[in-house]
Amino acid sequence: MSDSAQIATPAGPAVLRRSERTTLAISVLPDGTLDLVAPLDATETDIAKKVGKRLRWIVRQRTTFADMNRNRVPPRYESGATHRYLGRQYRLKVRNADPSGVRLVGGYFQIATKAGSPQEVEVALNAWLRGKAVEQFTTRLAQWEPWCAARKLPVPKVRLLRMPKRWGSSHRDGRIYLNPELVKAPSICIDYVIAHEVCHLKHPQHDRAFFKLLDQTVPNWRATKARLEQLQ
Ligand SMILES: [Zn+2]
Repeated sequence: MSDSAQIATPAGPAVLRRSERTTLAISVLPDGTLDLVAPLDATETDIAKKVGKRLRWIVRQRTTFADMNRNRVPPRYESGATHRYLGRQYRLKVRNADPSGVRLVGGYFQIATKAGSPQEVEVALNAWLRGKAVEQFTTRLAQWEPWCAARKLPVPKVRLLRMPKRWGSSHRDGRIYLNPELVKAPSICIDYVIAHEVCHLKHPQHDRAFFKLLDQTVPNWRATKARLEQLQ
């Protein structure tokens, strides 16, 4: 594919690339940019005309993306912003100090960084949450060791793993992968995800035997799962 160029179209300026393809491909990117991939021999006039025919569709795509972007509020990393830990909201109190550090005092995350910039605060808070995730998950999973031993299952071991759409997964050798984001959820939800993954050590699939075991182990797991889903 060749380098991109800018061209004028009835839908405004667009980014144009050329390829061996035989038809014009029109896409609207999440930021509203119009992205075109045209055959090598198509003239800019023809391309603009074809874009004109798709004008209504382009406007609709841009509106949808604009709505989505408006509804997505990115987390803020400055004094007054709230962040969750173990199901509770805590406000940030940021100050400039060296050495930097994070402390949970009363209802506040007290965060000290050299310059107090949002970037530094984000790094400091995420590192703190990751440390707490390891601590929380390890302690809670350790309680399952006798349960696993009684069933001749491997000793479960925690690994943190960012997963865009999952809270956890497990491996038959005893590794339990947990999403570090889970540390923001109430502890009852963390315990449910851990129980779910531990039950997978015995039954890897979501089959009847798995759910029977989960029902015996965490009788009210459905309510907890629903609570966890509301947090997403
Ligand atoms: Zn599962």
